[in-house]
This record gives sequence, C-alpha cells and structure tokens, in this order.
Amino acid sequence: MSEIRKHYFLSEYCIIAEERSKRPSDFAVADEGRGKNGSESCLFCGGAEENTPLATAVYKNGKIYSDTPEKRVRNWDFRCFPNLYPALSPVPDSPKHEENGLQAEPGYGFHEVIVESPLHGRRLEDFSNFEISGLMQVYRDRTCSYTSRENIRYVSLFKNSGEKAGASINHLHSQLLALPFCPPLLARELKVIRKIEKCPYCAIFNLEKTSSRLISENSEWIAFTPYSSMGPFEVWILSRKHVSSLGDCSDELLFALGHILKDILKSYGRVLGNPPFNYMFYQLSEAPEYHLNLRLLPRISINAGFELNTGSYINTISPERAASYLREDLTHGE
Ligand SMILES: [Zn+2]
Ligand SMILES: [Zn+2]
Repeated sequence: MSEIRKHYFLSEYCIIAEERSKRPSDFAVADEGRGKNGSESCLFCGGAEENTPLATAVYKNGKIYSDTPEKRVRNWDFRCFPNLYPALSPVPDSPKHEENGLQAEPGYGFHEVIVESPLHGRRLEDFSNFEISGLMQVYRDRTCSYTSRENIRYVSLFKNSGEKAGASINHLHSQLLALPFCPPLLARELKVIRKIEKCPYCAIFNLEKTSSRLISENSEWIAFTPYSSMGPFEVWILSRKHVSSLGDCSDELLFALGHILKDILKSYGRVLGNPPFNYMFYQLSEAPEYHLNLRLLPRISINAGFELNTGSYINTISPERAASYLREDLTHGE
C-alpha cells in the first residue's frame, strides 16, 4: 500500500509506503549504549568542570549560580556553558562582505550546551517527575535568556541522542543556538498561519486528540504521530493551551510536558530498543500566532537521494500503526 499525504496546513508531502510485514523490532537499531561507558575522559561529567568554558548558568537546588575563573560551581543539577566548538560567536571575527552579489554576515550568535546530569550514563526517561520538570524549567529559562538579547531572532533548542542522531559526546545533554535570523522554515509556517483565521495547531490538537494517531495525553498535552510523518515513529507533543514559546509556559504546564516527554522516551526505548533520536522545540516568542510544539524523531531511517532531491519523505510505517505500537506499550509496558 502506498499513499501520498499532504501536511496539515503546509504545501508539503510525504509518501507512506508501508512494508506490511515489518514489525517494530525490524526498526530496532543496535543499541549504541548511549551513556553506558566512556566516563573516564568525559568533559560533561560532574568533577570535570575545569575542562569546559566558564558556565553561563549553573542550576543547583532550584537556584541559579555562575562560575568564576577562580571557582567553578560543584554538585549541580544542570550546567550550561558555551560550546567548545561553537557554530556562532557573540564576538565574531569575520567581517561583513559582499562579492559578485554574494553576501556574508559575521557569524554572530550563541551556541550553548545544556548538560542535564552530572552523572555519566543517566537517561532522561529514568528521571523523576521532579527532575524532568526541573529540566523543562531550565529549557524555559535558557530560551528566555537568549530571546531577550539584542539582535537575536530565533532560539533553536534541541537534543541529539546517540551517534547516529549527531551526538558527539556520550553524556546526557541538549544544545541551544541563538540566531540573528528567523529560520526560513519557521518564517514560512508563520506566513501561512497568519493567513488562516484560527490557529492550525489548535485545530490539530482537536483533531488528533480523538484520532487513531493519539499515543498519550494528560490534562495539558497530547502526544501523537503526525498525519504526514516524515519518518517512522515521528511524534509531536502539542499543548491544549495556545502558547507560542516555552517562555509562556507556567510551571504546571512544564511539569505536564516533562511527564509526557518521559512517556514517549520510555516507549521508544521499549518498542524500538533505545534508538538514536532527536527532539526539537518549535517556538516563536515574538509571534503570538505561533503555537509551541515539540517534535521527536528516532533516527531509524536514512534521508538519502530522494529526500535531498525533493524535500519530501518516504515513510515505511503508517503513523496510525506506529501510534498503535507506542500506545499499546504505554498501556501495558510498565
Ligand atoms: Zn560524562
Ligand atoms: Zn494554537
């Protein structure tokens, strides 16, 4: 069976080409043992603070501290510092230039690492509800810290977990890039959203809440496989309340977000055998029309020539079937 599906509200397509014989275990990739070993020379471990740049913020017992060149904060819960190999810099050394109509701007911006535990080998899905909600508050705090800065137009907050998902260090962390431009992907979405009378994400919430793609829900959020999923087991997490960024989220909303995120990660682990994955926050603090959403994608299929050539995706499991496996696991898997 094969089907061309259109995105909820954008001119984007995906091809669902199911191989019916496939079971979730066929998607399972060899567990890279993320976080199981390699703590000996790990820069992110508690105790190795001297080996990283000075922290931009250190979270400890609900308070925020900062490092000084003389003294690094120890025994922290979450620690944020500039990436050792930053893609962008607050003081870029390259000048603006233009040649033959080709333009280049200095690489201004911020690139931060958020280390999510001092302990090597921890996994997010094993966090207590208190710990995971603490992390969601750190995400909110770091996002707000950069959106308020001059000349920053977008804060990209994401996690690469596992080598195949782009993680070069095998210790629980996320990354944040604060950009001086709004990424075309978001700008294009916003343009369409502004032409629609009602928020399309609020409509998606109402649609998916009762669909066969729903995986999990709580009082504030739903998790579901999107109708035109770009890959096997893609999941979106969407809030009932219309909020445009993490900065608009109350502590209660973040607590419920942490809870549902943990559910999906646990289920990925059990159904797909701890796959490498990415998750990304989509948010626009300056555009109240936008609706915050979190997207997760296990990296179990390869984007190859067709995807690069067309910007469209071939997905070998229907979102309905993927949702049924994850939903079934969450109902009976504990
Ligand atoms: Zn470590
Ligand atoms: Zn909305």
